[in-house]
Amino acid sequence: MADLFALKQTLESLSLGEALQYVAENYQNVVFSTSFGQEDQVITDAIYKNNPTNAALNIRVFTLDTGRLFQETYDLMDATRAKYNQSFETYFPNTAKVEALAKEKGFNSFYFSVENRKECCFIRKIEPLKRALTGAEVWITGLRAEQSDNRSDMPIVEWDEANKIIKFNPLIHWTYEEVLAYIKANRVPDSPLHRKGFISIGCAPCTRAITEGEHPRAGRWWWEASQKECGLHAAK
Ligand code: SF4
Repeated sequence: MADLFALKQTLESLSLGEALQYVAENYQNVVFSTSFGQEDQVITDAIYKNNPTNAALNIRVFTLDTGRLFQETYDLMDATRAKYNQSFETYFPNTAKVEALAKEKGFNSFYFSVENRKECCFIRKIEPLKRALTGAEVWITGLRAEQSDNRSDMPIVEWDEANKIIKFNPLIHWTYEEVLAYIKANRVPDSPLHRKGFISIGCAPCTRAITEGEHPRAGRWWWEASQKECGLHAAK
């Protein structure tokens, strides 16, 4: 943990691009998981051009295609590939598990119980994530502290015991206004859904637009009184 403390001090003193470069140069097999949200797009921009080298850093970028995403998200994936001239690794759910789930419970079982919802998230997100993280030493995320109570005291870097990996959250202290300012200043592509009241965007059947004054994650699994988390970032 002493090493993590030193790493935390180093990363907190660096800009986003510098911090990403530092991690890419000092660790083996660094991965970044993107769901193409605005925070993730900021990090993608910094990995591919907005860093001290002005070139792509040695960071593996992957996404999880749950099979239930918005068409706008797929369009944004392609726009992002084109802008940076990069391809992303895509991890899909285990085919047999999805087929079994659909056969047993149909296509919308997540609406009927928390257990069903967690089962679907496990099959479509968590198991593929574990495959994607296999062999990696550092996992970069787009988490921000103000997104939810679960994230409010997350540090910039921490040990993720569930996945046995160093987790680096470079935007953890950023405000939403800073994210928007970066996107505007650097012409970073983002989803048109953000202009229609969607702030946090996940799978289409489990995300709705929010109204003014609602919490940014109120539109995720809105029918549940849950903590608005799918389990990718397990609470400590
Ligand atoms: Fe399934 Fe909804 Fe979770 Fe997506 S967010 S994996 S559709 S329960």
